[in-house]
Amino acid sequence: MPAVEVEVTPEILAKYEAVIGLEVHVQLATRTKIFCACPTSFGAPPNTNVCPVCLGQPGALPVLNRQVVEFAVQGALALNCEVREESIFARKNYFYPDLPKGYQISQYDKPLGEHGFVDIVLEDGTAKRIGVTRVHLEDDAGKSMHEGFRDSEKYTYVDLNRCGTPLIEIVSEPEMRGSGEAYAYLSELKLLMEFCQVSTCDMEKGHLRCDANVSVRLRGATELGTKAEVKNLNSLRFLKQAIDYEIERQIGVIENGGRVMQETRLYNPNLGETIGMRSKEQAHDYRYFPEPDLLPLRISNEWRERIVASMPELPPARRKRFIEVYGLRPYDANVLTATREISDYFERAAKASSDPKAAANWVMGDLAGALKADGKEITESPISPENLGELVTFIAKGEISGKIAKEIFPKMWSGESAAAIIEREGLKQISDTGALEKVIEDVIAANPKQVEQYRSGKIAVAGFLVGQVMKATRGQANPAMVSDLLKAKLGG
Ligand SMILES: [Zn+2]
Repeated sequence: MPAVEVEVTPEILAKYEAVIGLEVHVQLATRTKIFCACPTSFGAPPNTNVCPVCLGQPGALPVLNRQVVEFAVQGALALNCEVREESIFARKNYFYPDLPKGYQISQYDKPLGEHGFVDIVLEDGTAKRIGVTRVHLEDDAGKSMHEGFRDSEKYTYVDLNRCGTPLIEIVSEPEMRGSGEAYAYLSELKLLMEFCQVSTCDMEKGHLRCDANVSVRLRGATELGTKAEVKNLNSLRFLKQAIDYEIERQIGVIENGGRVMQETRLYNPNLGETIGMRSKEQAHDYRYFPEPDLLPLRISNEWRERIVASMPELPPARRKRFIEVYGLRPYDANVLTATREISDYFERAAKASSDPKAAANWVMGDLAGALKADGKEITESPISPENLGELVTFIAKGEISGKIAKEIFPKMWSGESAAAIIEREGLKQISDTGALEKVIEDVIAANPKQVEQYRSGKIAVAGFLVGQVMKATRGQANPAMVSDLLKAKLGG
C-alpha cells in the first residue's frame, strides 16, 4: 500500500458508495450437539464435552439432532426464506488445528433455506428490504487459545468442546450501503432469532458471530469493487465502527492510486482499526463434496406446518398490530418489541387496562426507569402487568389523578395492588359535586383579594384558586370538575 497522501475528506467520501454483505453464524440453543449427544454447555473444563463423533475419530457416525433441524427451520422461516423439502449435507475441507475431522459438515448447493429477506428501518424512517441469500446448517469447529496460559508465548492450546455445536449460517445479499444499514440488519436479525428462542444470540459468548464483506465503488458504478472480509465483530457497536473504518481505508487506498486487495482483515476494537490477516487472492477452494455418512435432510410439508404452528408472533407483525389495535406510534411500537419479554409484558398490561396508550407510556417510562434503578429485568418486575393495567384504569376512569398515580406507583413495588393502596390510604379522587362545592366555598372565602382580581378580568387567577382547592384536598380533587365548579361560583 502506498503511503497515504490524499486525506479522505467528507467530500471525497461522498463520491463513493459502500457495498456490504454480512455472513452471520447463529449458535442454536439445543442442549446437545448437532451430530452427537455431547452437551453444548458453555464454560465446561476444556476437552470434556467430547466423544468420538465430534472428535471425528475413524468409524464414528454422525446422527442428526431433530431439535437442531426444527430450530433451523424456524430461523429460516423468521427470515422469510423458502425452506427446501430436501437439503444436502456437504463436507467443507480445510486443515486447522481446532478441526480434528479435517472438514466441517455444512451445506453447499442445496441449503436448508433460500430467497429470504429482512425489512429494516433506516435512521430517516424509511424502510428497506435486505435480501437473505441462504440459510444453511453446519457444525462448529473447536477453539484455539492463544493467550491466558503461562507459556502462551510459546504454545497455542486447543479446546474441542465447541466441536459439533449446531450453527446456522445466514448469508445476506450485498445490499447494505453503509454501517447504519448493517447495524439495523444485524439488530433485526438478532431480534428475530431471540423471539423464536432458537438462540440466545449472546455475542459476548460467541452465540452470534458476524463477518462483513465490504467493498467501495464510485457512486453510479455498477461493477463491484474488490472486497475485504472483516472478522471479529463481536458486538453491534464494533460492527458499525469496523465498517466505517474499512470504508474510509479502502477509499484512501484508491484515492492514493493504490488497489484494494482481496483479503481477510481482523477488527481490533482497542485500536479501532482493521488489520490484514491473510490474502485471499485465490478463491476459496474447500473442495466441497456430499457428506457420505448423512442422508439428505427431508422436511415434509406436514413437519414444516407443525413447526410454523409452534412459532410465536414475530416483531414485524407485532409492531403492526400494536399500531393498529392499540393506536401506538411506530416509535413506541418499536420500543415495546425490543424483546419478547417487553412486548409480552406490555400486551398483558394493555389488556388489563382500559387505556393501552397510557399503559405503553407507563411501561416505557416509570416502569423502565424503576427496573433500571433496581437492576431488574422486566421478567422480574415486582409490579405485575395486570397490576399496572389496573393502575392505568383507575386514572382513565377518573378515580385517581395522574399525580396521585405517580405516588401510588412506587408503593406498588412491594407487590401490593393499586386498588389495595388506594383503599388503605383513602386516595380516591373526589368527584362528588357536593363535597367539592364545600371546599371551593371555603377557598373563595379565604382569598377575597384573588376573587376580586378574577372578577375584575384577571382570569388567570383561576389557576391559583384551583391550586388552593387541590391543596385542601391533598391532590385528590378532580381538577377538571374543580375548574368548572369554581368558574360557575365566580360567575365566569
Ligand atoms: Zn460428541
